[in-house]
Amino acid sequence: MKISIDKDVCIGAGQCALTAPNVFTQDDDGFSELLPGREDGGGDPMVREAARACPVSAITVTET
Ligand code: SF4
Repeated sequence: MKISIDKDVCIGAGQCALTAPNVFTQDDDGFSELLPGREDGGGDPMVREAARACPVSAITVTET
């Protein structure tokens, strides 16, 4: 699995970090970023839920 966040689209709503806090965090400006080493989701089943929860669909999850 590979996760990408479109930072141009992200509005900093924080839903991803709330939904899957082991994978997503927010940077100093409130925008979403992946925790170090979690680019592959770390097997967390909440990743897809987080992508769905994003109000602007900034998170893309692709199977690798
Ligand atoms: S839920 Fe979407 S808009 Fe909100 S911080 Fe995460 S990626 Fe950005």
